[in-house]
Amino acid sequence: MIDLKSQTLQEVTDTLKAMGEPAFRGRQVFTWLHKGAGSFDEMTNLPKALREKLKETCTLTVPKVARKQVSKLDGTIKYLWELADGNCVESVLMQYHHGNTVCISSQVGCRMGCAFCASTIAGKVRDLTPAEMVDQVLFTQIDSGMEVSNIVLMGIGEPLDNLDTVLRFLELVNHPDGLNIGMRHISLSTCGLIPGIQRLAELGLQLTLSVSLHAPDSETRSKIMPVNRAYDVEELFAACHAYFKKTGRRISFEYAMIDGVNDHDWQADLIARKLKGMPGHVNLIPLNDVAESPFKPSRRVAAFQRRLESHGVTATVRRSLGGDIDASCGQLRRKAMEEARKGEDSQ
Ligand code: SAH
Repeated sequence: MIDLKSQTLQEVTDTLKAMGEPAFRGRQVFTWLHKGAGSFDEMTNLPKALREKLKETCTLTVPKVARKQVSKLDGTIKYLWELADGNCVESVLMQYHHGNTVCISSQVGCRMGCAFCASTIAGKVRDLTPAEMVDQVLFTQIDSGMEVSNIVLMGIGEPLDNLDTVLRFLELVNHPDGLNIGMRHISLSTCGLIPGIQRLAELGLQLTLSVSLHAPDSETRSKIMPVNRAYDVEELFAACHAYFKKTGRRISFEYAMIDGVNDHDWQADLIARKLKGMPGHVNLIPLNDVAESPFKPSRRVAAFQRRLESHGVTATVRRSLGGDIDASCGQLRRKAMEEARKGEDSQ
C-alpha cells in the first residue's frame, strides 16, 4: 500500500501518472490530503473509478483522539492520538498572542534516555512517518477548530534521530498547496545530535533550532543526558557556533532547572562563556515533576536568570501552560500506558 500523505507533490503526481491519470490530478489529491480529508470518498472532484483505485492501493491515515484534555487555566489542549497500529503519541495546542502553536511528536517513545523526561522511560517503539507528523497538525486544527500558525517539534521523540522523515515533514507543511506554514514559524528541538545539527546547517533552513542544553559542563550533562557521552557538550557548543556562522540564525537553548544539579551560579557563568560570539537565547524551564524521576524543580530560577543576564546573555523563563493537564512531554502517554498496564494486572 502506498502512503500518499508522506509523498511530496511531485511524488503524488508521479504515483497518479503511473495509474494513467493526467498530471493535474496530483495537485488535487495532494490538496485534499493536506486539508485532512478523512477518506478518498471525500475527494469529490476525482472520478469515482479513481477514488476506488486509490482505496485499493493507498493508505489514508486518520489518527483517532484517544484522549483529549483541555486546560481550564489557559485553554491549552493536549491530544493523545491513536495511530493505525494502536501506538499513541501526543500533541499540544497552545494559544499565544502571536498565534496558535502546536507541539508535535516525531517518534513513538524516545531512545535518548534523558533522566528527567517522561517520554523516554519505556524507550523508543518506532519512528513516525511524515504523514503521521503532518496528521498531528491537521487533526489538531480540525478537532479544535483553531488555525495553527506555528509548529514546534518538541513533543515525544528526538527529531534528529528521525531526520529524513522530519525533513520531508518540513517540506510538506511548508508547501503552498499544503498547510503552507513558513519555516520561520517552525522550531525544532534536539538533545544535541551533532551530525543532525550539521546537516541542518548545510541545508540552511530558516527554522529555529532549539538545543536542549540542561548543563554546560560535561560531568553534569552526562549524568542527566546519556547523549552527552556520545556527543560531548564541548563539541555541541562548537557545532552551535558553526551553525550560527552558517545560517545566521540565533539558537535557543532549553534549560530545565533542576534543584542542586544544574542551577549553580558557576554554571550560569560557564554558559555565558561558552556562548560568547553568538547571540544565544537561554530559555529556562521550571522542571516538570515526573513521578518516576528523582529530580526536583529548582528554587533558583530567577537568580539563575539574573546571573545570565549580568553577563549579557538573553534569558527568559518559559511560561508554563496547561499545568493542570499533564501538558509536558510524554506525560499523558505515560499515564495512559500505566493505566492500561494496571488494567491488565487486575484482570
Ligand atoms: N528530543 C528533543 C525534543 C523533545 S523534548 C529534545 O531533547 O530537545 C522537549 C523539551 O522538554 C526538551 O528540552 C526536554 O529536555 C524538555 N523536558 C523533558 N522533560 C522535562 C521535564 N520533566 N521538565 C522540563 N523540561 C523537560
